[in-house]
Amino acid sequence: MAGTTPDFDAVVIGAGFSGLYMLKSLRDKLGLRVRVYEAGDTVGGTWYWNRYPGARCDSDAYIYVCTWDKQLLQEWEWSERYPTQPEILRYLEHVAKRHDLKRDIQFGTRVTGGEFDEGTNLWKVHTDKGEEVTARFLIAAVGTLSATNLPQFKGLEKFKGKWYHTSRFPKEGVDFTAKRVAVVGTGATAVQAIPEIAQQAKQLTVFQRTANYCVPARNGKVDPEVTKARKADYDGIVKRIRESFFGQEHYFIPKSALEVSREERERELDKRWDAGGFAFWLANYQDMFFSKEANEVIADYLRRKIRATVKDPKVADKLIPQGHYYGTKRQPLDTNYFETFNKDNVLLVDATADGKIEEITEKGIRAGGKEYEFDIIVFATGFDAMTGPLKALNLKGRGGRTLDKEWVDGPHTYLGVSVAGFPNLFTITGPQSPSVLSNMPVSIEQHVEWITDCIDNMRKTGKTTIEATPQAQDQWVAHVNEIVNMTLMTSANSWYMSANIPGKPRAFLPYLGPEGVGGYRKKCDEVAAKGYEGFQLA
Ligand SMILES: Cc1cc2nc3c(=O)[nH]c(=O)nc-3n(C[C@H](O)[C@H](O)[C@H](O)COP(=O)(O)OP(=O)(O)OC[C@H]3O[C@@H](n4cnc5c(N)ncnc54)[C@H](O)[C@@H]3O)c2cc1C
Repeated sequence: MAGTTPDFDAVVIGAGFSGLYMLKSLRDKLGLRVRVYEAGDTVGGTWYWNRYPGARCDSDAYIYVCTWDKQLLQEWEWSERYPTQPEILRYLEHVAKRHDLKRDIQFGTRVTGGEFDEGTNLWKVHTDKGEEVTARFLIAAVGTLSATNLPQFKGLEKFKGKWYHTSRFPKEGVDFTAKRVAVVGTGATAVQAIPEIAQQAKQLTVFQRTANYCVPARNGKVDPEVTKARKADYDGIVKRIRESFFGQEHYFIPKSALEVSREERERELDKRWDAGGFAFWLANYQDMFFSKEANEVIADYLRRKIRATVKDPKVADKLIPQGHYYGTKRQPLDTNYFETFNKDNVLLVDATADGKIEEITEKGIRAGGKEYEFDIIVFATGFDAMTGPLKALNLKGRGGRTLDKEWVDGPHTYLGVSVAGFPNLFTITGPQSPSVLSNMPVSIEQHVEWITDCIDNMRKTGKTTIEATPQAQDQWVAHVNEIVNMTLMTSANSWYMSANIPGKPRAFLPYLGPEGVGGYRKKCDEVAAKGYEGFQLA
């Protein structure tokens, strides 16, 4: 019966940046009864789970914040440009405390399933604690990088030493002193962890499948005058990042990399290299993501930097990326990453030159026919990104349909926030929204605010269900693919392309809209203004 009173107006899954703001908005703005389920023991999400050495944000901290708490924007002082995991976790704990959020969050509880009941128009949600609750709205704030990817290496169970995945590091930390350590993987996480582990370990061996173009983070204290000016201009900053392409204060150079002289280009690239951070990636020549030739001149600049830093030319060769265009994989920011390979205690084993990992043995790792012995193996092998945590919810929509089946050839969503056949389900920073291609708090807040307005509107107009129409969804999927197919992004074996997980259907996961997050925001607002165009409300 559609009139049945649910246990909660909304169930929110996850208590990171997304879940915290969703709870705040629905509870304190709309006055809804909300229950949040969080698998971890406290708030924080990414910043609760990822405790590996060197874990820190890559977004500049002044924009990696809850911009919805204006007072806190003024009060909070970050200790450096890119704070570490404990500091960001402290920040999110503080946010939860300030807004008294924890009283509505049930920690240590994983949502294991949910069904949309077509009789009552309610979601029935199950947890690993054996609970079953009903809710009108189900909001997945499960994160995009929260489903750990541990490749099925043969023999892992035989290993006599200790092993860890970077996203499930023990709270008490790991002492690498005097240990022989392996790091498997060279993505953004590994690039942060490797220089730190190398300082402690007796011997560090890095197993690389794909070399990455890294640019310097240039972490450090932020000039107090800069911080003061930013605090005075936060309204302007928030407006700019919301309207920007990537949710950051970075803007493309409105020129082709090929139309300028070599001198001018080197000057511009030097500027971005010296500034550090995402500027090199996101404020580069505008045709970098489209033109192979433009991309090549920028890649050439980065290759020269690697050769100039790494002393052994053979090692430098291995560290130089092959087979993908610059910028088509997540940009790692580094602090002494390439320098680390000059250390006597660091060895690089490259899958292409030295052989792939064949198996884990009792003593270590066999690769390229050779056994390497270790006390500790660290897997920095990333995540089943974006679709992984959503599929793991085991949701059943209308007629018992599942995301596994609906997404057999890649995600199908409308605006990345809704899935046809799954009424009243919202996915914060879901696949086919800008999400991981942006400074995430900007995209998270946009979705939370849009969902809040949508639910408010439904209440005011007496609607109980909203769901994307299959036609609107098909058009959105076609649009997402059409745009990205014009870029070089689809050529890479990246996690954006789902290529890091064997058997995962090859599809570009986020939305690279023609006007970035600003344009996407406008599109979502237009949909709402037109009475939720592309949705069916009942
Ligand atoms: C190492 C690392 C560094 C990053 N750095 C940056 C950065 O510099 N800039 C940037 O913009 N983004 C960065 N990100 C992306 C980051 O995930 C987002 O910025 C942001 O923290 C996402 O918040 P969220 O709340 O959406 O998701 P998360 O923080 O991932 O939180 C999701 C929560 O949902 C919970 N959950 C999932 N499934 C279930 C379930 N079934 N039941 C119960 N609970 C569940 C998880 O336990 C988790 O706590 C980084 C990610 C990683 C992994």
